Amino acid sequence: MPQETRTFQAEVSRLLDIVAHSLYSQKEIFLRELISNASDACDRLRYLALTRPELIADDPELAVTLTPDKKANTLTVADNGIGMSHDELVENLGTIARSGTASFVQSLSGDAKKDMALIGQFGVGFYSAFMVAKRVDVVSRKAGESAAWRWSSDGKGEFTIEPAEHAGRGTTITLFLNDDEKDFLEDYRIRNVVKTYSDHIALPIRLISDDKTSTINAASALWTRPKGEITPEQYKEFYHDAAHQFDEPWLTIHAKAEGKLEYTSLLFIPSTKPFDLFDVDRKARVKLYVRRVYITDEAPGLVPPYLRFLKGIVDSEDLPLNISREMLQHNPMVARMKSQIVKRVISELAKRAKDEPAEYAKFWDNLGVVLKEGIYEDFENREALVPLVRFHSTAVEGLTSLDDYIARMKPGQKAIYFITGDRLETLQKSPQLEGFRAKGVEAMLLTDPVDEFWLPALGEYQKHEFHSVTRGAPELDQIEAPDQEAHEQKQEAPKTDLASLIALFKLTLGDAVRDVRPSERLTESAVCLVADKEDMDLHMERLLRQHRRTVGDVKRILEINPKHKLIARLADRAGKDGAADALEDFVWLLFDQARLLEGEVLPDPTAFATRMSAALEKGLG
Ligand code: ADP
Repeated sequence: MPQETRTFQAEVSRLLDIVAHSLYSQKEIFLRELISNASDACDRLRYLALTRPELIADDPELAVTLTPDKKANTLTVADNGIGMSHDELVENLGTIARSGTASFVQSLSGDAKKDMALIGQFGVGFYSAFMVAKRVDVVSRKAGESAAWRWSSDGKGEFTIEPAEHAGRGTTITLFLNDDEKDFLEDYRIRNVVKTYSDHIALPIRLISDDKTSTINAASALWTRPKGEITPEQYKEFYHDAAHQFDEPWLTIHAKAEGKLEYTSLLFIPSTKPFDLFDVDRKARVKLYVRRVYITDEAPGLVPPYLRFLKGIVDSEDLPLNISREMLQHNPMVARMKSQIVKRVISELAKRAKDEPAEYAKFWDNLGVVLKEGIYEDFENREALVPLVRFHSTAVEGLTSLDDYIARMKPGQKAIYFITGDRLETLQKSPQLEGFRAKGVEAMLLTDPVDEFWLPALGEYQKHEFHSVTRGAPELDQIEAPDQEAHEQKQEAPKTDLASLIALFKLTLGDAVRDVRPSERLTESAVCLVADKEDMDLHMERLLRQHRRTVGDVKRILEINPKHKLIARLADRAGKDGAADALEDFVWLLFDQARLLEGEVLPDPTAFATRMSAALEKGLG
């Protein structure tokens, strides 16, 4: 086959352009990335060889070899791992494979400085080689195949691919270094970079220099070493490598389980939101090892979807090595490990929430939205999860918990009140909250779509039911007012007779509403919409519509405020002759106002505008 020339996918070209022109100060991370890929390639071959030992028989000791050549100005990173076929070379080194990287490239701003800071946080894998090299050659032979291929590129839009000679198995990457990067040919520099970033790699990393070969990393899996001997930096580098995340771990859990079930887990919670957090597959990418042999990073059933932000590894002593990924799903040992891991993570979170509330709030802001899924998905741990929930409320600045809410409940208050919506600022101004505020009754302000699921699933907490402030009767009269003054106010509240006005509203609005009734929850606004006790909450309905789900035509209840001056004046007029005609526009305007306050789109904005103009004109006299 002759040489072929191919062009990079557009996103890759963009990435390469930024990488090549970068003034990024930590260019040495290219070595971390290449070693990480090499080590993954060896892990994958080791797994395949469990069922096909012939793949590895001729060269069983897996390793990564670094060879600087000062004469040629090249640094070679070689592995005897799984290798790549022709098509895999084209696919893997010509496009962006990882979903995270694709969205990462989309998030690049075009501002070199900002983009480089991002790249430093994110890591760009193989392509980082072009930070230090003017040309990169990759020669690879896939395990079990006889043909080898050479991929070559200067990183400027195109690469070539052609048949090659490769005596061994695996991948050899040769970097033709830029003139000002010769530093990376020096022993001390290479050793230093490997020690800093790759010491935790379980394979030997060898340096061949002056014909001498030495192993320059610890070459034992980090998690097998005693905790006391591992520095925070080593944990961090391991996390970066295992998770493809380049932030600080927010929490590190390194635990060894002994007894009936023996395994080691080294798990991390990130301090930022992982890019793939809301991928539809909701998979956790915790790597499963069996006695140091890498099995998969998608072990089904090892980590529940609501903990999918967990990163790291679990290394089992008990599972059979030849376990297939399909068998993992129903394996009772995996199920037991999962159960223990979940309990451990929850208890660590609880500890942090208690001891370091400010730090916990950071976790909650990033990942709480995912953790809440556990309340309706994991019945077994529900009781432990609920106290971990944090939310905003009308009573306090910042985040608060359900236990704290209950401690603040007013005498006579039975329910825990909440309101859901898209934005905190809008929720805080909701008219439905007015009566609650006036009585000093707190309401949870909830803005995540998942809130519509965990609350109904839970139903109650510590024997207090959850009630939406936009649904059903508020039962505020059973709660004692905060002080005497408010109490008296309540006694004296003018009792407007709304019977005729309500009849008129009903007549005018007809089918557009389910009911019209005087409001107990409004103190300042004239009107608001609420849902009937049995009906779907207003916000839930909007959410479903946004997701193009049919929800039928749910009718709402219009509440009108008897204490409001406008309502009082309308009530005066309602009993008089010709009121139905005279007040029709007012009724519709008030109804539309209530809909607008809910953030709803008016079905007939033109009619609204016409009525509004007419009313304004009248106002001018
Ligand atoms: P990532 O490693 O994050 O997936 P890279 O751009 O670094 O992204 O690599 C893309 C893909 O190329 C890898 O997922 C892997 O399939 C393949 N690859 C890279 N280096 C090697 C290697 N040394 N041996 C085998 N495959 C490799």
